[in-house]
This record gives sequence, C-alpha cells and structure tokens, in this order.
Amino acid sequence: MGQDCIFCKIAAGEIPSDILYRDDVCFVIRDIAPAAPVHLLVIPNEHFTHLDGLTADRHGMVGAMFQAAAQMASREGISKSGYRLSINQGDDSGQMVDHLHLHVLGGDRLGAMA
Ligand code: 5GP
Ligand code: ZN
Repeated sequence: MGQDCIFCKIAAGEIPSDILYRDDVCFVIRDIAPAAPVHLLVIPNEHFTHLDGLTADRHGMVGAMFQAAAQMASREGISKSGYRLSINQGDDSGQMVDHLHLHVLGGDRLGAMA
C-alpha cells in the first residue's frame, strides 16, 4: 500500500466509500468532485503509480481497467451517448492522486480536450 495514498485507503476500507464495482484487479467509485454528470474513477487495487513503470506483467491490469470502465459506462447508461476515458500523468496534467486511475466521464456533451 502506498503511504498516505487516499485510493489505497479506500481500497482497504479505511476510508468508507461507495464501491460501485470491484474485482480482483480494480474497483470503481464516483469522483468526489464530478466534472460531468457521470464521473467515475477506475482504480487498480494495487498501488501502481506511473505508466512509465508499466511492464508486460501488468498489461492484464490495464486491460481489466478498460473492461471495467466499459462495463460501468454501460451500467450508467452512457455507452450509446458516449463517454471519455482519461488518465492524468504528472504535474502538467494536474494529476492529484499518485495512484493510477482511469476517469470515466459522460452523461452530457463534454468540452474540448485541453
Ligand atoms: P487526478 O487529478 O489525480 O487525475 O484525479 C484524482 C481525482 O480523485 C479527482 O478528480 C478528485 O476529485 C478525486 N478524489 C480525490 N479524493 C477523493 C476521495 O476521497 N474520494 C473520491 N471519490 N474521489 C476523490
Ligand atoms: Zn495507492
């Protein structure tokens, strides 16, 4: 577990959170400060920081995260209307939590990408 990592604490149940989905690899919560009507976070159970540390043994983890995102988009009713997946990496992206996560945004027409 990452020291003082908020997502590790949520994963461990130390910070109560409504877990919408969970499997062996990842879990899904709603973003506390939603930037769209649907704003979910797909978070690996494992404390994994940056994609530059991604090795072949974790390709399955990334694949499972995308599958969970698609499944949750369907469950939230935004599969047909469309949605955006985004991953912030590092300072210039505005990344706040240093534990890999996939944003799932939808439910309305989204603004242009930065
Ligand atoms: P980042 O900027 O690192 O890509 O995104 C981190 C996201 O986590 C932000 O959108 C922020 O609102 C969300 N977040 C931060 N702390 C919490 C929390 O305790 N609970 C939930 N559900 N979301 C959080
Ligand atoms: Zn963590």
